[in-house]
Amino acid sequence: MDVMLNAMVQELLSDIATSAVEAANVERIATSVAQTPRDVGSRECDICMNSAFEVYALVPCGHLLCKQCAGRFSKCPTCSKPVASTLRVFM
Ligand SMILES: [Zn+2]
Ligand SMILES: [Zn+2]
Repeated sequence: MDVMLNAMVQELLSDIATSAVEAANVERIATSVAQTPRDVGSRECDICMNSAFEVYALVPCGHLLCKQCAGRFSKCPTCSKPVASTLRVFM
């Protein structure tokens, strides 16, 4: 069963990566980000370790970066997926 689930996830991920960024995808990522429990207020950027007061999600992978880093990478530094756009996240 795990193998099947994995295949489904891979297929979904490649669909997202190859299709244009759709509003539904952006919405889904924003929702999952918003539902992730976080220590709001003391969030640090995983890349530059600076306190990130403005947090951006990379689309389509959904990894979070600070504003500076989000504008700096054309590929996600965490998972290496191409960055189609960035999305401001309000924690
Ligand atoms: Zn950063
Ligand atoms: Zn990523």
